[in-house]
Amino acid sequence: MKVIETRGLARKFLMGSTEVHALRGVDLSVEQGEFVAIMGPSGSGKSTLLNLLGCLDRPTGGEYLLAGRPVQDLSDRDLAQMRQNQIGFIFQSFNLLPQLSAAENVELPTLYRDQPASRSVAEVLTSVGLADRMDHRPHQLSGGQQQRVAIARALINEPVLLLADEPTGALDSKTGEEMMALLADLHKKGNTILIVTHEEVIAEKCERVVKLRDGEIVSDERLARA
Ligand code: ADP
Ligand code: MG
Repeated sequence: MKVIETRGLARKFLMGSTEVHALRGVDLSVEQGEFVAIMGPSGSGKSTLLNLLGCLDRPTGGEYLLAGRPVQDLSDRDLAQMRQNQIGFIFQSFNLLPQLSAAENVELPTLYRDQPASRSVAEVLTSVGLADRMDHRPHQLSGGQQQRVAIARALINEPVLLLADEPTGALDSKTGEEMMALLADLHKKGNTILIVTHEEVIAEKCERVVKLRDGEIVSDERLARA
């Protein structure tokens, strides 16, 4: 099954009277279970693409099918629901709520569901190695632990797609490697994962590298596995 299929996906922004073309017609297909790195220089459209794929933003042109469903026809309400049910988002700056414990942060996305989550908060936090940190608040956790909480929060609704925008950008290199090992492990379990990164060492851990420049895909390569 194709989790992602875009055709001519475009996003322009109006800045005063100037049009900024952040994405200029991207055709991208991602099959279920793929582990993809999106690379490219600053300003090449990586975050814009990830936000569109994550239904955080709407395209100004082209089509996007998420798990076979056309996203551009959805109402705002349906789009929000699609995002909640199908997508886990991991940000560079973790985006945890400081006044909530690790467990409460992970529980948050389940509160908007119509059906109970099939995995418990404790189970998911345990799976990312935080069984003994459930009651800690973000400021009582290291950067790496905070990102693990963010990954658990992204996983709790069992999304079809995990999206990460520079997830190791705020971490030291050793903690960044641990984070990649965790994501690689999730990939082995069958999760579909897209990571935006500008670090070669991170991209090397993925199985496919898509490069953007000036809002266009300039290369799309599968990495050989040793
Ligand atoms: P990257 O993540 O690769 O660094 P972005 O996707 O953030 O790049 O941005 C791509 C281009 O679109 C940049 O030129 C940026 O200035 C522009 N852009 C992004 N978001 C906005 C916005 N909300 N308003 C205007 N221009 C934007
Ligand atoms: Mg960016």
